[in-house]
Amino acid sequence: MGVLIVTGGSRGIGAAVCELAAERGYDVVVNFSGDPSPAEQVAERVRSRGAQALAFRADVSDERQVSALFEAAAELGPLAGLVNNAGVTGNTPGRLDEQTVETFRRVLDINVTGVFLCCREAVRRLSTRYGGPGGAIVNVSSIAARTGSAGEWVHYAASKAAVDTLSVGLAREVADEGVRVNVVSPGLIDTGLHVAAGLPDRLERLSPGIPLRRPGQPEEIAGAVLWLLSPEASYTVGSVLEIGGGR
Ligand code: NAP
Repeated sequence: MGVLIVTGGSRGIGAAVCELAAERGYDVVVNFSGDPSPAEQVAERVRSRGAQALAFRADVSDERQVSALFEAAAELGPLAGLVNNAGVTGNTPGRLDEQTVETFRRVLDINVTGVFLCCREAVRRLSTRYGGPGGAIVNVSSIAARTGSAGEWVHYAASKAAVDTLSVGLAREVADEGVRVNVVSPGLIDTGLHVAAGLPDRLERLSPGIPLRRPGQPEEIAGAVLWLLSPEASYTVGSVLEIGGGR
């Protein structure tokens, strides 16, 4: 199957993607930027499924660290795909007029520049234009790109809209070079993101407004990501797949 790089693979949705990818036969690079222990634990769970795993620290917004991430992945084996999952809200929920420019820039840097840098590295390795074997990229956006997240994190929503547009454009650039690019756009998912953002009751508060009346689980996103990576999605290019329980 080859190697799958999952950015932000140490927790939440990314960790679920890493584990399911191992079950589907990928060797997995579990990227993270902070504490190594959750990433090491995910790597162990990947190995327990019979796959190779590497936990690798790299801030996706840093060009040199992204290069190092892809070089380390190459030592594991040939690259098959990339999941750009790392993303942050800025952890300062509130109206746009209450946000600092530092928060705005940091969120864009991780959520948008990070996707740009990782996509660029992946295309240079996967595209037939560069002699690569082809492959697939899945970028993790958010339905916030459509809703705008008023009162919570408009800056984050805007960054995810940028991810959608970047993905659709890139998908069309590289479709005939063996590389399929698609987006999974989750709704409210039960991960640590909400508590970290200082909104511990967010899942409970928003659940009644979701047609399914509950948050999604990371595994319910991982399944879609692995489908988009797979040959079953061979004609799926530049799609933005919303998974939000009907929201
Ligand atoms: P999470 O539990 O907070 O995990 C975020 C992951 O990203 C962690 O592994 C974190 O590891 C990593 N990360 C953060 N900054 C990074 C950086 N600069 N470089 C590399 N890795 C970095 O988040 P999640 O809820 O699983 O969300 C995953 C993705 O889904 C994000 O793109 C998010 O925007 C999107 N999403 C989530 C929801 C939701 O309701 N949870 C809804 C829609 C979309 P470190 O802490 O070690 O850096």
